[in-house]
Amino acid sequence: MARILICDPVDDAALKAIRDGGHEVVEKTGMSPEELLETAPQFDALVVRSATKVRKPVLEKAARGNLKLIVRGGVGLDNIDTDVAAGLGITVNNTPAASSVAVAELAMAQMLACSRFLGPANLTMKNGEWNKKSYGKGKELFGSTLGLIGFGRISCEVARMARGFGMKVIFFDPYIDDAEDAQKVDLDTLLGNSDFISLHIPHNKDTHYLLDSAQFGMMKDGVVIVNCARGGTVNEAALLAALDSGKVFAAGVDVFEEEPPGDSPLVKHQKVVVTPHIGAGTAAAKKRVGTEVARKINSFFE
Ligand code: NAD
Repeated sequence: MARILICDPVDDAALKAIRDGGHEVVEKTGMSPEELLETAPQFDALVVRSATKVRKPVLEKAARGNLKLIVRGGVGLDNIDTDVAAGLGITVNNTPAASSVAVAELAMAQMLACSRFLGPANLTMKNGEWNKKSYGKGKELFGSTLGLIGFGRISCEVARMARGFGMKVIFFDPYIDDAEDAQKVDLDTLLGNSDFISLHIPHNKDTHYLLDSAQFGMMKDGVVIVNCARGGTVNEAALLAALDSGKVFAAGVDVFEEEPPGDSPLVKHQKVVVTPHIGAGTAAAKKRVGTEVARKINSFFE
């Protein structure tokens, strides 16, 4: 029997599946870094989502205790010092595919919201305005070109959905060979030909500010930008300037350079539809994440 510490909320069915696997489950969500440092060494495995940060001091202390496994329910591993964990012999797993559809659907929702002014139209109507003139100048997805930056799990789902809307799909991803149903192009070609650009890449030193002033300058006038990937892939100051100049028609943003973004001019901008990093936030995705977390824990300790 292993002792499993649940650090961030996980679906109840998953907790039951882990208990049914013969393990002890302790739920202690919302711990401070100091509490985590004290508690983690007493457990064989930690389960985290994105809130709990598992940094070097926790890993070093926990490795001297019992910790052998960390399971991150979700995709990105930026909240765990994975190199340190590997050096200490602690296995780190995630549930990469479980939330792809949910994130892809949010990216599509952002595209639609941006094209049809859903954010400001909703807000102004609630304030008693009937602003048919301003918000009756929308764009259609049908017949337009969608440029996907990154063509991994989420992006492929977006491509599938976008084709249903009658969009032509092109993508830039140096690590993916040609795809059957989307045209692979270089970044400059994507920037110059897309009516909508959606990012689906990790944030690392190669992708930091992949979209900056120079890249916005190469885009078609009136392009829509969607970022449901990671903050830092788009330079927010450059995006703001491109929104103000009219180069960018509107932007849908789920992820920010700093989260929460605080008093950010991007969040307040009229042409920006914002959501608080909720890409994976559907009941179905949470269930799939939970099932996958339980499967990974149970098979690791089998
Ligand atoms: P994935 O690994 O399946 O796909 C990422 C793709 O990016 C890969 O095909 C890779 O080759 C490509 N890539 C890497 N570096 C690149 C570069 N420099 N230029 C172009 N392409 C590059 O990942 P995924 O599951 O599709 O997730 C994509 C992103 O979405 C990740 O950053 C993930 O953290 C993020 N995400 C966000 C949410 C949310 O709540 N908004 C939820 C889940 C995932």
